[in-house]
Amino acid sequence: MSTIRLEIVSPLRGEIYANDINMLIVRSIAGELGILPRHARLLTELVPHVMRVKAEGGEIQIAVGGGFMEVTPELITVLANAAELEDAIDVERAKAAYKRASDRIAAYQSHSKDYGEIDIRRAENALARAKARLAVKGIKVD
Ligand code: ATP
Repeated sequence: MSTIRLEIVSPLRGEIYANDINMLIVRSIAGELGILPRHARLLTELVPHVMRVKAEGGEIQIAVGGGFMEVTPELITVLANAAELEDAIDVERAKAAYKRASDRIAAYQSHSKDYGEIDIRRAENALARAKARLAVKGIKVD
């Protein structure tokens, strides 16, 4: 089966993943994208989500906290704000982040606290990052 190189890096952890893969499924700001070998050139922004990598040996999932993806026919480069393979994910930390973000969103929606101080986009992004991390660990929330 033909392959395309995938390299995922993040500012804090450097190289997260590098491999010759068969297919990558990601969520960009424009929607879900499937990238196969010899894909057309593309530069797009990614939202926080669970990235699916199909390679020899099966499929793996990677939690991605948003970032940018550049595709050429031979190489996919993901510059992730943060990215973790399953083994690197701290479930308790993700659960705590999830609770913090959902409490902030609830306060904003009910106008119960100093909701004017809450950055709702930031809270929604934090929630999406936590959900992606928990999903990679097989934990569904909501
Ligand atoms: P927190 O509020 O717990 O810091 P966050 O979503 O704000 O979560 P990020 O800014 O996305 O965290 O990531 C900062 C760094 O911490 C990155 O290197 C990321 O890989 C790492 N990280 C964040 N949450 C986890 C987690 N639950 N398990 C492992 N690494 C994590």
